[in-house]
Amino acid sequence: MTIGIIGSGAMGAGIAQVVAQAGHPVFLFDLNAAALQRATVGIGTNLRKLAEKGKLDSADAEAAIARVRTCSELQCFAACGLVIEAIVEELGVKQAVFRDVEAVVPASCVLATNTSSLSIASIAAACQRPERFIGIHFFNPAPLMQLVEVIPAVQTRAGLADETKALVQSWGKLPVVCKDTPGFIVNRIARPYYGEAIRLLEEGVADAATIDWALTELGGFRMGPFALMDFIGHDVNYRVTESVFTAFFFDPRFKPSFTQKRLFEAGYYGRKSGRGFYDYR
Ligand code: NAD
Repeated sequence: MTIGIIGSGAMGAGIAQVVAQAGHPVFLFDLNAAALQRATVGIGTNLRKLAEKGKLDSADAEAAIARVRTCSELQCFAACGLVIEAIVEELGVKQAVFRDVEAVVPASCVLATNTSSLSIASIAAACQRPERFIGIHFFNPAPLMQLVEVIPAVQTRAGLADETKALVQSWGKLPVVCKDTPGFIVNRIARPYYGEAIRLLEEGVADAATIDWALTELGGFRMGPFALMDFIGHDVNYRVTESVFTAFFFDPRFKPSFTQKRLFEAGYYGRKSGRGFYDYR
């Protein structure tokens, strides 16, 4: 089955790598030619590194690389059995993209979003055939993270969640099916976690490095909250918090912080822009 990926940023490129490694021909679409170029280079580098380390046969790595084709026209999705969207976390933009995608894909093609927080039902509602719509939520970096949340919308046809779960399993991932609620499982728990970490910083309880150190060295977390927010990107992370807060009818448990809002407004997105809570320049 050929898989189309919309958006070739951090998540789209990672998902393309996962499904190409699993044997699917992939069309990777983005409006930004530089992003497509970065994704191609990144996927090639990652897979060849795995081959160098002996974790992947080098012929398999080259075959997976060859399965990923980039495109700048949605027409490339004409023969896809599944299209996964991983573009900017904005409802209107995602809805508009799916309207255009539906005009070119076959009637049998499943449509999926990698949204972190938006309602799957609201994105599906923009589609002519919302019954074929589902959430497939990967974690960053997609090739390394095992967990994938599979989220049927109220409109999703019976059986599609189980079929999607089996497909995701066949990619070597560990899927969990969960209900279409803001932030699903992980991003819901993560909102008060990041929020409390930022409150500690704002209250001067300790600096970011000390809080991160406490959680990694003593708490057993792989990354501390500030390093993790910088890794995810404050553009993505702030939008997710804002979206979860709004979707929960402004429940203060999920309230965004001005500290992160200012980083977002300044373009200090974290690792990707060279500056966030930490300085990477
Ligand atoms: P990103 O900024 O790295 O990449 C987004 C890409 O989408 C960019 O290359 C951009 O050019 C492209 N794009 C934007 N609008 C487009 C359009 N209309 N048509 C085609 N391409 C378009 O973002 P990301 O971190 O990869 O996040 C993408 C999605 O995945 C978001 O919904 C986000 O919430 C979700 N997500 C992110 C993470 C994370 O940790 N970064 C984890 C899980 C899910």
